[in-house]
Amino acid sequence: MKSSDLEQIVNSQQLFFKTHETKKLNFRKKNLEKLKKLLIENEDLLYSAIGKDFGKSKYETFVTELGVLSMDIDDALKNLDSWAADKKVSSNLINFPSTGYIKPEPLGVCLIIGAWNYPIQLSLAPLIACMAAGNCAVVKPSEISSNTSAALANIINSNFDPSYLCVVEGGVEETTELLKQDFNKFFFTGSTRVGKIIYRAAAEKLIPVTLELGGKSPAIVLKDADVDNAAKKIVWGKFLNAGQTCIAPDYVLIHPSIKEQFIDKLKYYVESFEYDLANDNYVSIINKDHFERLKGLMKSGKIEIGGKTNPETRVISPTVLTDVSATDAIMQEEIFGPLLPLIDCNSADDAIDFVSESEKPLALYLFTSSSGDKNKILHELSFGGGGVNETIMHITNSKLPFGGVGHSGLGSYHGQAGFRTFSHYKSIMEKPVLPEVPVKYPPYNQRKLNVMKWVSGWK
Ligand code: NAD
Repeated sequence: MKSSDLEQIVNSQQLFFKTHETKKLNFRKKNLEKLKKLLIENEDLLYSAIGKDFGKSKYETFVTELGVLSMDIDDALKNLDSWAADKKVSSNLINFPSTGYIKPEPLGVCLIIGAWNYPIQLSLAPLIACMAAGNCAVVKPSEISSNTSAALANIINSNFDPSYLCVVEGGVEETTELLKQDFNKFFFTGSTRVGKIIYRAAAEKLIPVTLELGGKSPAIVLKDADVDNAAKKIVWGKFLNAGQTCIAPDYVLIHPSIKEQFIDKLKYYVESFEYDLANDNYVSIINKDHFERLKGLMKSGKIEIGGKTNPETRVISPTVLTDVSATDAIMQEEIFGPLLPLIDCNSADDAIDFVSESEKPLALYLFTSSSGDKNKILHELSFGGGGVNETIMHITNSKLPFGGVGHSGLGSYHGQAGFRTFSHYKSIMEKPVLPEVPVKYPPYNQRKLNVMKWVSGWK
């Protein structure tokens, strides 16, 4: 798409936003309902697009993409009246009598940039929050999951007025052009490297930005953990989508005394979940480059489980590695694939030292039965969010804001947090026109100063 076309789309959205139509709650609800209906009507088209991009099963596509969006839309419809209502706050002595309230307002025209690993959810979940908050949006899905990007463009662009919602397809070139346009907010999901480019572009415009980034998310399995539960949750969380999940456990810190038992249990769950090359329900690696990158990372350490690959289908079997050190290639980047290194770790303190050596992770999973160690780790380590004796599932509770911290992200969304992310909160003080105590007006004197000191609690 030409730069003049992109400019025309964004300008038409700016004009439409200025009509205040998108601020009407009925408009927002009607369009959220319409989006849900379109997703349901296009269910097969979306399965087929994701199938072509990843070979992902209908079940996994429904659970990790379409089902999540359906729940997000229902949640927004159910709560919109209360999220969008003015919030009254109490007044203070210095302003007596007055009323104070906070008035949410949409930001305007927003740019949503998606990643490829859950290409429907990562483009549309922010869009749902953006629509609920009363904004216009341009959505730019990842060009890497090209079939899904085309399906989204087809569904949105043939059913919504582009001056309200529009999907723009493309890669670096198109996104670079989009970043120059007249937007009021950037919402980005992707790598930390590109996140910095988006942040710089937002700084030039002084517009708010949300960055949903990645990183190396640890799973910590302490000596007193329920080993069976830890192995089951880690196998599921890691090999779901063949490890191409931003909050997948990237590596495991494990107490040496339970390592052998843990590996046996990992083997057991990999087999019983039928994660293998021949299973059509086990997801492929997105493209040849990532497949080759992951094959390279498999050279770190010793393969305990898996290690099989099929270049034709781009499938890599669930692979568990030991004898891995912090300096090996596999520990130098986010793995983003079905390779799971195990690293020895003797205590909660060791785990804290190891994790704090790197940037703050997007997720952290802790397996322990000790509340002392749990409290210490949750208190001392900074990370986006996570689970205790669980993996991944914190993302599915819309009451838990989802986002990273430091290099793993900035800001959060899901549920009301998403509404807040796409809103500005105007603070208003309303005064009755009554005779006033003239203490705030000049000329000032000692008596007025004494009153102000008393009101300010200066004692
Ligand atoms: P990416 O950063 O390569 O691409 C993301 C988006 O940015 C794409 O739409 C792409 O077209 C665009 N882009 C790429 N290069 C650009 C450039 N130079 N200028 C402007 N735009 C550019 O990320 P990816 O490979 O699609 O996704 C993988 C990463 O995303 C991983 O790090 C993963 O952890 C992270 N991720 C985070 C979340 C989250 O919710 N926090 C979710 C999914 C993925």
